[in-house]
Amino acid sequence: MISFETVHKRCSILNPLKGFKEDVVTFEYRKDPLTGRNTTVVKGMLEYVSKFLSTDEKLLGSLAEKTRVGCPFCPESVMAKTPMFTEDFSKEGRIRVGNAVVVPNLLGHAERSAVVVMAKEHSLRLDEFEPSAILDGLKGGLAYVRRLSETDPSVSFPVFAFNYLPPAGSSIFHPHMQVLARDRPFYLARLFLEKSEEYREVNGSNYWHDLVEVEKPGERHLFEKDGVEWLVPFAPLRGLNEVQAVVVGRSNFLELGDGEWLGIAEGISSILRFYHEQGYVSFNAVLLSGPVGAHLDYFCVNLRMVSRPGIQPTCFTDAWALPYLLWDGEALEEPEVLAGKIRAFLGRRPGGKVR
Ligand SMILES: [Zn+2]
Repeated sequence: MISFETVHKRCSILNPLKGFKEDVVTFEYRKDPLTGRNTTVVKGMLEYVSKFLSTDEKLLGSLAEKTRVGCPFCPESVMAKTPMFTEDFSKEGRIRVGNAVVVPNLLGHAERSAVVVMAKEHSLRLDEFEPSAILDGLKGGLAYVRRLSETDPSVSFPVFAFNYLPPAGSSIFHPHMQVLARDRPFYLARLFLEKSEEYREVNGSNYWHDLVEVEKPGERHLFEKDGVEWLVPFAPLRGLNEVQAVVVGRSNFLELGDGEWLGIAEGISSILRFYHEQGYVSFNAVLLSGPVGAHLDYFCVNLRMVSRPGIQPTCFTDAWALPYLLWDGEALEEPEVLAGKIRAFLGRRPGGKVR
């Protein structure tokens, strides 16, 4: 059984903003229902840091213009300036799906590391990431993972990762997605796999299916699209507008059908439109897979995405010591409040279907 455990704490201070009258600060500790990791919900934190979350549009525009010069991913350069796969992997040297181009990473983060150039445009607002462009990118990544499974089956743990714009850690401005694959899972994927297996041993069921079942009628569920369930996690990993998705009944990328890939693409596009409406320009996302080539009845392909702070001369980051070094979570507002805002933006009611 999934349990959502919350502990409330409070502390009195003498507040200078209220003439040093006694004031109470409240904290909410939430235990991640799968991993047990703590996330602290700090009410009011979103408003407190909000001045760092907006973007200096002039600065953004000038960065876009400066980085366009010499960009290796713009259409006129992508074939001349990006690496090619060796011939034994791909005869053409690169993989193309629609407008997406998959190339090996020049300096990868895993033994097999590719980049999917997702759009012809050098710069996109978050409401300009069309589902079709995201879908081409995902399908490009899938083609790479499928080819890897044929040529090197030991590299069985892939993830798709998005880092869009410098606040999200991207060194190249042009919209792209990374495909990272190696013979061992990334830590978060390993933690989820191990804890999901433990959950199945104790409860006799799939944690991800149970999660969807218990969340679906509730206030954190956002929508369902083509077998992909979207929700706000009870205990976010990072906390700035974090959204989660679960592909029910599929434990690795090679098991997903066209409809499910479209469900992921449309969901990402919808959440990015919400981020844009809230004034954000930058985001990260990861799509986690179980090992390809094996169906696990205790695991589901799942996604996390967050918005990142704005582009400003102050260089503010939300990679604070707390999440970055202490590995604890901090949510800047109650997940239920965030879910309510997203549902209102998308015109949905709790537990509701896509319109
Ligand atoms: Zn470009």
